[in-house]
Amino acid sequence: MNTQDGLLIVGEDLCQQLVGREQAFDAVQSVFAAMARGGARNFPVVREALGYADALYGFKSGFDRDGQVLGVKSGGYWPGNADKGLTNHQSTVFLFDPDNGRLSALVGGNYLTAVRTAASSAVSIAHLARKDAKVLGMVGAGHQSTFQLRAAAEQRDFERVVAWNPHPDMLPRLGAVAEEIGLEFEAVSQQELGAQADVIITITSAFEPLLMKDWIKPGTHLACMGTDTKGKMEVDPDLLATATVFTDEVAQSVTIGEAQHAVAAGSLTETAITPIGAVINGDHPGRSNADEITLFDGTGVGLQDLAVASVAARRAAETGKAQRALL
Ligand code: NAD
Repeated sequence: MNTQDGLLIVGEDLCQQLVGREQAFDAVQSVFAAMARGGARNFPVVREALGYADALYGFKSGFDRDGQVLGVKSGGYWPGNADKGLTNHQSTVFLFDPDNGRLSALVGGNYLTAVRTAASSAVSIAHLARKDAKVLGMVGAGHQSTFQLRAAAEQRDFERVVAWNPHPDMLPRLGAVAEEIGLEFEAVSQQELGAQADVIITITSAFEPLLMKDWIKPGTHLACMGTDTKGKMEVDPDLLATATVFTDEVAQSVTIGEAQHAVAAGSLTETAITPIGAVINGDHPGRSNADEITLFDGTGVGLQDLAVASVAARRAAETGKAQRALL
């Protein structure tokens, strides 16, 4: 991006106009592929409790040499925001010109975080779920869940959604989105969800397993998206010991992702976990048979944020819609 024209400022509303599910899917798929072939790398994540306003604050950064995207997402979690009419998760992406280090764009990161996380599970479904999948299982009904549902629904000819959430009063909102996109919706028990679903997305803040290994039927694909911190857990670690496990980034999967518990217990080894980019690049076959259980451990990496922010910045520059400022 040409920084001679000044710094691009791309706000939240503009991001929503400029980055749809299709663009996010393509950007995330492409950066996962670059990560797996060594053309892009994430830098160590910083995440700290501020000791103020109960907030968690940090940075996720990286460099995609293949895509020429350099930057950092800065932000975190302010639990008191909802009472002030603000989103609890707040973030902004800073993009830099990789040739000279000049700041090239400031991009709102709230909507983009939701859309890039949904794209991540959608990419896993596209590459790992059975082609004949008909029933989508949703575990979780918070802010992220509707984004996940919409993106997943575009990957297979789903007919129905079965859903469970620890707080059942949150499910009607998810049901309304399912109906809006033409899918039947039913709230079910956790066991029933496992028995019916061909693809399952988990997107909660759980610290204990919500789905047990024996409830999952052969051939299921799971995208476990909620576990992004040490201690969190959404599914039975025994499930990871028997499933074929894929991830966005192995280093995160074994430390802050869903695989952390099975790895700590010694029932899963780091070397048995495959980066999804290897499947995208054709270096790993992905699903090998119709009965295999595949599990994608989506931990969320900074390069995903930079990838979608760079789409927003590029499109803002092309359409002339963004504000510009001189540095
Ligand atoms: P949210 O606060 O809007 O919703 C939280 C969800 O978790 C709801 O379904 C709620 O019922 C459930 N929940 C809350 N407390 C729980 C508990 N103690 N046990 C089990 N379930 C509980 O959050 P969100 O924005 O929808 O995000 C959901 C999760 O996804 C969070 O844990 C968040 O950190 C994670 N996340 C991951 C990524 C990634 O890239 N992997 C990206 C964004 C969010």
